[in-house]
Parts: sequence; structure tokens; C-alpha cells
Amino acid sequence: MGMHGDTRPFIGVSSWTRRVRSGVKDRFNESVPRGYTQGVEGASGLPVLLPNSDDASLARDYVARVDGLLLTGGDDVHPRFYGEAPHPRIDLVDERRDAFEIALVRAARERTVPVLGICRGLQIMNVALGGDLYQDIPSQAESAVGHAQKTLREGPWHEVEIRPGTRLAEILGEPRTAVNSYHHQACRRVAEGLLVTATTVDGIVEAVEDPGCPFFLAVQWHPEVLEGGKAASSRKLFAAFVAAAREFRLLSSKGRSARPA
Ligand code: MN
Repeated sequence: MGMHGDTRPFIGVSSWTRRVRSGVKDRFNESVPRGYTQGVEGASGLPVLLPNSDDASLARDYVARVDGLLLTGGDDVHPRFYGEAPHPRIDLVDERRDAFEIALVRAARERTVPVLGICRGLQIMNVALGGDLYQDIPSQAESAVGHAQKTLREGPWHEVEIRPGTRLAEILGEPRTAVNSYHHQACRRVAEGLLVTATTVDGIVEAVEDPGCPFFLAVQWHPEVLEGGKAASSRKLFAAFVAAAREFRLLSSKGRSARPA
């Protein structure tokens, strides 16, 4: 690899700790569904898996070494992270992952590393910045749109309306788009500094961004699954994210080389 040959930015991909039955004793795997890493790879990024750690201070070390952070989907966020007790309809939670991802979000924001959040990723970004969630949309929100998709997840389920003039609108280039939807939690109180950039007709938040950051953007749907990750809107999202990471990498390496020897 030549000195300037490697233009693929490193994208840290948050992982999902899964309990795997293995003989008499369970194992725990740090894993990520392939759609996420393929989405990054397809946009000419280099995905690197970030295993959850008991030591949340490692989050800062990871963020110092990546050019972008992708926060993936997964289980529910434990409501203690926004000061609530669990609702009876809450699903699986993993507080260890919650704590680690919250630390990743805060470190990335501090260093202005580009961040893309998907589904749970959107929710964890909102919680990390002080917002909260509906623990269960059907029992806590007035929602006419079913957000639990009853058809194949590769296909669209509902439309979202995109707020004009936002980064998301610029990326997607259309006022509304059809997306998949399989979440029973959603943003309730949106964190200060975040702008809602897409909603369904029932007012459920489907995308947010921080207009004050170079790239801090999240969607509630699953672009990595929509049409096998090949939907036009999915390609545009991953492309814009990885482009922002590449730009960040260039700027930070310029910063390094500009320092006197
Ligand atoms: Mn939805």
C-alpha cells in the first residue's frame, strides 16, 4: 500500500453481545449483522468491529482511532439511562452495551467524528445527549402507523416525510421516502441540539441530526436491510456517511502533518 494509497476511512461499527448456547455453558459473542459492514464496505469504507467492553473508558480510545462511527441496531435501551423504571412491555436489554455505546457517542461528538445511527443507534444517540424514549410505542404513543413490520424486512412498510433544508433531505434528494420499520421504541423527548428530520404521519420520529456537527445523523429504519442494502436511499446514506469520514480523515491527517517536526 502506497503512502497515499489507502483512502478507505476506518469506520468503527458498534457490536451486539449475543448469548450463544454452547454445550453446558453459554458463550457471549460480540457480533454484528453483515448488512452493516457490507453497507460500509460498499461505500468504500473499512469497517472495524468495536466489541462492547466492561470498561467504558475504552470508548474514547476507539473513537480516537476511527474516522467514523456506525451505531447499529439491536435490543431495547434500558430506561435507567434516562431515569425511568422498565415498562412491563420492555423487551430484552443489555446495560453493558448501553453504557459502552453512550460513551462512544459522547466521545465521537467531542472529537466531531462523523456518526451514523441506525434504529437503536438513533435511540442511543438521543439518550446519550439527554433525550428519552417511548419504551413501547403501542402502549405509550398515539400511533396510527404500525411500526412493527408484518412483511419481509427487505421491502418498504411505511413512508417518512423528510424535513426540507436538512442534511438528510440533501442526501436523499426527495421529500419523502418509503422505508422498512421494525421497532417498538422511538424518540419521545428529543435531546437538545438534535433536529427531527423525518417523521411518519403519526408524528413518530424517524430521523434526527445535529445541524451543528459536520455529520451526526440517524435514521429509525434499516437501510442496511432495505432491498438487501441496495435501495437507492440506503446507498446514498452510506455514501454520505463514508464521504464525511473520509473528509474527517483527511482533515485530521493534515492537522497532524501541519504540526512542526
Ligand atoms: Mn417506523
